[in-house]
Amino acid sequence: MRIANVDGRLTIVPGAIASIVDGGTVDGVDVERASGGRFGSGPQEIFARWEEFESWARDVDLAAADVTVTAADLGPVAPHPAQVFAIGLNYAAHAAETNRAAPTSPPTFTKFPTCLAGPAASVNLPPGSVDWEVELVAVVGRLARNVARADAWAHVAGVAVGQDFSERELQMVGPAPQFSLAKSYPNFGPIGPALVTPDELTDRDDLAIGCAIDGESVQSSRTSMMLFDVPTLVAHLSSVLTLLPGDVIFTGTPSGVGMGRDPKRFLKPGEVVVSEIEGVGRLRNPTTAGG
Ligand code: ZN
Repeated sequence: MRIANVDGRLTIVPGAIASIVDGGTVDGVDVERASGGRFGSGPQEIFARWEEFESWARDVDLAAADVTVTAADLGPVAPHPAQVFAIGLNYAAHAAETNRAAPTSPPTFTKFPTCLAGPAASVNLPPGSVDWEVELVAVVGRLARNVARADAWAHVAGVAVGQDFSERELQMVGPAPQFSLAKSYPNFGPIGPALVTPDELTDRDDLAIGCAIDGESVQSSRTSMMLFDVPTLVAHLSSVLTLLPGDVIFTGTPSGVGMGRDPKRFLKPGEVVVSEIEGVGRLRNPTTAGG
């Protein structure tokens, strides 16, 4: 199943949503109307009733679609999470390109939730050096506290493509890096285009992941290269705190970011960043001047 945030309304969408940022439309089912009000319209609130919703939604017929969806209609699949986690240095080649040792425990920071955006959002570049980081995003579907690694996927509602846009000068300033603030400018966290339940994927632990700028591939890897995979991250985070339904986890980026290049490269106004994960879909985020 795939669900999307269509103008703030929870909508069940077909697989073709994966490439909707390239243009065109898909037809979806509005959950509140199709359920006769049993479920509300809120894309965030549904995670608190995820198991009940998922079993109802399994029988929904997309032939009964009542909403036409374009990329511009789409918001973030989890628009108001209580917590957003982001993991640094989770691919060995990315740790190496930033001259850091591979971590032995997942380095964790946050992207403040106001940075979340839809899959086609424009990014107004702030002063500094804005970099790209394509990432698999997992959304929590069941409260998780001290969850065993073997049970972790059962606590994930689904996955989406994410971009962890990062302004490197603020990120690195001072004696202790400012990861969270520098990654939270408006629209620095597009996620989507839809939330895909793990059963839709051929192998939820091994998906091609990549990023291109103006059509030039800059990142290309597989999620199986993560040092700490999704189950390990859910187990680790839930060993410290309580993961709540609807929480968002950015799982880290592979190598190929701009600051790891020689010479370094950062985004310029007018460039278009396309972020993609096999079976999940694609984001398309143009950049604009000022900020
Ligand atoms: Zn990141």
